[in-house]
Amino acid sequence: MKKGSLLILSGFSGVGKGTVAKQLVERYGYSLSVSATTRKPREGEVDGKDYFFKSVDEFKNLIDYNGFIEYARYVENYYGTPRKFVEDELKLGHNVILEIEVQGAFRIREQYPDALLVFITAPSAKEIKNRLLGRGTETEEVIQKRLNRALEESADMDQYDYIIVNDDLDQCVDDVNSVVVAQGCLKDNNLDLIQETIEGLKVL
Ligand code: 5GP
Repeated sequence: MKKGSLLILSGFSGVGKGTVAKQLVERYGYSLSVSATTRKPREGEVDGKDYFFKSVDEFKNLIDYNGFIEYARYVENYYGTPRKFVEDELKLGHNVILEIEVQGAFRIREQYPDALLVFITAPSAKEIKNRLLGRGTETEEVIQKRLNRALEESADMDQYDYIIVNDDLDQCVDDVNSVVVAQGCLKDNNLDLIQETIEGLKVL
């Protein structure tokens, strides 16, 4: 069976990548990895659905047991991708989404060279700032840190395979799915199929 594609979605805070990921699940059947974090839940967030919320000790334990494919510190909290879910889903041939920040994305690329790195952005820098401020769930200090982090992240955008603007949500979701489909059709990702075809035609 063909292995699934690993799609890394990164993007500035508030740019809507979480919504894009959820739409990819609903509309196109992607499997979404749920990360572990030491951040406190925001209002409405559900343990096991939005994140697995962990204490710092629990998180460190998981690191020791090789439970994460990658983990990173982001604005004073730890975030990590549980290993088992991703490995199992890819083996089943499912396309898997990781919604993670840039350090994590680059670590994934080292381990999964075929992973597709997609950076979701807003139509303009002004819009990025507005969306960061608009969320209204964070303190001034955290917002400032996120703005600083966004500036740092912008320097890494050119390391991604695709940059996709989230202006119209439906369009953005379709665009992301299109690059995943295209990736799956790449010659290099179909070498087995090519070989089978050649062998199969020889015996016809
Ligand atoms: P938030 O606190 O807003 O939910 O997430 C903060 C940042 O952490 C976001 O950029 C999000 O994509 C990233 N993030 C969430 N889960 C993970 C993870 O498992 N690993 C890494 N490296 N980053 C993550």
